[in-house]
Amino acid sequence: MRIPLSQPSITALEKRYVNEALEDGWISGTGNFVTRFENALAEKVGRKYAIAVANGTVALEVALRAMGIGAGDEVIVPALTFVAPAAAVRNVGATPVFADIYANTWNISAGSVIKLTTEKTRAIIAVDVLGNPCHYGYLDTINPVIPVIEDAAEAHGAMYENRPCGSFGGISTFSFHANKALTGGELGAILTDNPEMASLLRILVNHGMTSERPYWHDIVGTNARTNNLSAAIGLAQVERWNELTEKRQQVAAWYDEFLRETFENTLLWRRPVADYASESCWLYTLHHPQRNEIVGHLRARGIDSRAIWTPLCDLPVYKDSCRGEYEITRHVGYGAFWLPTFAAMTREQVREVAEAVKEAVASVK
Ligand SMILES: *Cc1c(COP(=O)(O)O)cnc(C)c1O
Repeated sequence: MRIPLSQPSITALEKRYVNEALEDGWISGTGNFVTRFENALAEKVGRKYAIAVANGTVALEVALRAMGIGAGDEVIVPALTFVAPAAAVRNVGATPVFADIYANTWNISAGSVIKLTTEKTRAIIAVDVLGNPCHYGYLDTINPVIPVIEDAAEAHGAMYENRPCGSFGGISTFSFHANKALTGGELGAILTDNPEMASLLRILVNHGMTSERPYWHDIVGTNARTNNLSAAIGLAQVERWNELTEKRQQVAAWYDEFLRETFENTLLWRRPVADYASESCWLYTLHHPQRNEIVGHLRARGIDSRAIWTPLCDLPVYKDSCRGEYEITRHVGYGAFWLPTFAAMTREQVREVAEAVKEAVASVK
């Protein structure tokens, strides 16, 4: 593809940190870039503790295990998201239950959560889909005894009522996969303000072992650690946080500008942003009833546009998770598509993609 969907931004800073890690020989999970990355991330989102892990999926799995969630338990997750939260729930032996979304944010609907809550419900995973914060005000009032886990994998830099995404829920998680707004190649993090939870998380990700007593295991852990090279890239990216997220916002603003008239005169619309939130655009997302033709048209021109995720409620492997109605999820899921969005994108590239979108929309009318 001539214009990729996504592209990491790697500068001299990332290279310098990786080289430092290579030269001093610390490349495993015990290197000092891991700690520096954790501290910088915790400070950036205003949380007391951050624990670096291998990726954003394992971050969710470890969070669920730390909360004691397993066989016989249910966890409510949105039906429109990347699959990782649902898979994480299944991988700890619990059952994900899919909630519908709000039409005006594309995020988990509190009304749907209320209907799906049972005596087995142990948590809600609130995903800030595509960089748009969930309505934490509503989620917190649903049922104070059901904890929220925030999955902020797509929301570096987004804010809910002036508070950063990645700081909500008892536990929050991030991904720093190569196609996220900030990356470490493969890297994730678990954050909390609770000191006991933080030490439990640390023990779980490190073979159930504490540094005080080597090769003694009170609990069954796993190895979910990241490595010092990924953390070195991750630290550089956290230090460039504002630059990286502002550049993506600029790309989104250019798309808005070039497509404004098309939004007014055709069936094309942009993913809405809630008025309580300030989004941090991860991937610029549009909706059109003839989505597949439009994506095909763009791809034929070398533009790596893609249809959004298949609604999870339509995946046979998760059929036991469908206990509600998914009208809005399906409406969005079968009409939404992504345009290339990355920090290094130029105004000219954005203009070219927008022109191709206009052409495609005119051709399907
Ligand atoms: C990318 C993503 C993840 C998983 O992150 P990985 O680091 O790729 O494992 C989890 N949740 C959401 C919402 C994501 O978009």
